[in-house]
This record gives sequence, structure tokens and C-alpha cells, in this order.
Amino acid sequence: MSLDLSHIDAWIFDLDDTLYPPEQGVMGLVQARINAFMIDAVGLPEAEARVMQRQFLDEHGTTLAGLMANYAVDPDKFLREVHDVPLDSLEPSPRMAEALARLPGRRFVLTNGARCHAMRVLERIGITDLFDGVFAIEDMDLTPKPAPSTFRRFLDRFGIDPHRAIFFEDTPKNLEPAKALGMTTVLIATAEHLQSTGRTGGDWIDATAPDLLSFLEPLALRDAA
Ligand SMILES: [Mg+2]
Repeated sequence: MSLDLSHIDAWIFDLDDTLYPPEQGVMGLVQARINAFMIDAVGLPEAEARVMQRQFLDEHGTTLAGLMANYAVDPDKFLREVHDVPLDSLEPSPRMAEALARLPGRRFVLTNGARCHAMRVLERIGITDLFDGVFAIEDMDLTPKPAPSTFRRFLDRFGIDPHRAIFFEDTPKNLEPAKALGMTTVLIATAEHLQSTGRTGGDWIDATAPDLLSFLEPLALRDAA
């Protein structure tokens, strides 16, 4: 890999399906709850609700943003209910803790999920203390990635220079505004994962790795600050 990361002093990570692999199944559980909430909120049969939900994802970035634009839903209730899933399938990862700990600079989580969910997941993996900040959907005023305004708000909050930042994500389109702002971008996804989610990459992606550890562990880094 020929990426020069010697200038990087802010390491930014998406949470779900990035800091842990999709095979661990957490997002499947959350997604099932989102789908159930959606059907209930719009009062349509499942198939029709699913079509509408896909439209919401395309046009608004998340099911919640689409619901809020079109229906009277309580966002707090939504976030509480959809993230209330067991995390038994999520494996604690001392390897991930070690790989993150050696990165020189500050580390952040930037997630479209709820703050309580992010904190539970980090705790379960065993990496909570390694982050300098967690920026969740509540911090975005519920305007999710990939909205450029959300990235700018995040950078302002923590005083991050995007030209010295790298962003890791499993959702290709969320990397596009990051690149436009000057960040280095890494897609964390296997070809199978991309195919199964119907996603495609683009020229805004600087590097791709099948999982986060296989990118981080081989890095030759300057000494951690
Ligand atoms: Mg993700």
C-alpha cells in the first residue's frame, strides 16, 4: 500500500460494520428493529414500507431522517427502540485495542447511530478509553452522514484539520464528502459485503481493506504522541 499517512494526526472511524466486522451481526439486529419501527410508523404492508424505506435511505441518508421529514415520529423513541439490541454476538477485541492504541494522534468515532449504542459497542469491544471523542446522531442534530454540513460540524467541534485526518467507513457514499473536505479516505468492506448491500465505490476512495485490522496492523507508524 502506497498511501502516505505521515501527516495524519486525526484518525476517524465509523462505528457499525467498521470498528467490528458485519459478520458479528449487530447491524442485522438493529436493522430488523428499524424495519419493524418503519412498518409501524407508516402503517403500510411490509413490502410497501420497504420500498418507501429504500427511498428514505437514498433521499435522506437514514430511515429516521426520512420518517421525520414525512411523518410525526419521536426521534428519541426511534433511537431508543432500534438500538435496544443484545450485543452478545459482538466480540471483545484486544487486537483492535492494540491496533488503535498505537496510532499517533487523536482518535474519533463518527456514527449515524445513537450515542448510547456507540458507547455500548465501544465498551463491549473494549476500546472506549481509546477515543478522544464520539460524535453520534444526536450531535448531528439528526442530520446524518453524508451531509457535508455534518462533517464540518464534527471537524469544528474537535478542531480537526481535514487535511491531516483519515476516515474509515464501510458505506462508500459517506466517504465522498470527507474526501471533498480534504481527508484521506479508506473503505472498509469486502467485495461480498459491497455486493450484498448493493453499494459501489468511487474515485473519492483512497484505499480499500476487507476489514479494519488488516489495514491498521501492517502500518509503519511514527511514534505515538
Ligand atoms: Mg457503518
